[in-house]
Amino acid sequence: MADPIQTAAPRLHDLGLSPDRPLVLVDVDEVLGLFMQGFGDFLRQRGLEMRIERFALFQNIFPPGSTEHIGMEEGRRLFDEFFRGHCHEIEPAPGAIDALNRLSRGAEILILSNAPAEAERLRTAWLRKHGLEHPLILNSGPKGPVAAGLIGQTAHRTAFVDDLLSNLDSVAEHAPDTATFQHVADLRLRPYAPRSERHPRIDDWADLAEAIEAAIRG
Ligand SMILES: [Mg+2]
Repeated sequence: MADPIQTAAPRLHDLGLSPDRPLVLVDVDEVLGLFMQGFGDFLRQRGLEMRIERFALFQNIFPPGSTEHIGMEEGRRLFDEFFRGHCHEIEPAPGAIDALNRLSRGAEILILSNAPAEAERLRTAWLRKHGLEHPLILNSGPKGPVAAGLIGQTAHRTAFVDDLLSNLDSVAEHAPDTATFQHVADLRLRPYAPRSERHPRIDDWADLAEAIEAAIRG
């Protein structure tokens, strides 16, 4: 159990989660959902191309035929527009829903997503559409502080899944007893995604569910 840390983390009880079972925190984009694919479809409708050539976001977006990617400002504008109106259109990552349904038999599941606050309604609708009734927290910045605030409320084992090493490292630092796992859902992104010995990288959801179960079994 982590030391109590002062954060603005909501109470598990208020989220409808029991502190009497293991807790699994799961990211959405590139973990539960195929964000790059969905964002790419959205961009295509706006006359832009997503070319996955590196582990980056805006640097992979190009006007057709151009070798110069769009600027940060335009990227941010498109990103915000996507989350405001289209983030419910993404496809679930293969195997993710079955895996969460299996994990939820023995654990509490909380969805912890870094997305703009305006995404809350559509992102919640997306989860429900796929039968995932778990609570959602939208965060910005490194996930360690909020994760530690949540994890500190349970004496049971905990696990955290994300595609980004920055979030995985942040959780490992703030909640060192939590089992951390890296998952990168997009097949095209996988070869470019940096990995770390600190966090097992498991891109197959069935294998990942098994590893999480082993970690939280105690
Ligand atoms: Mg993600």
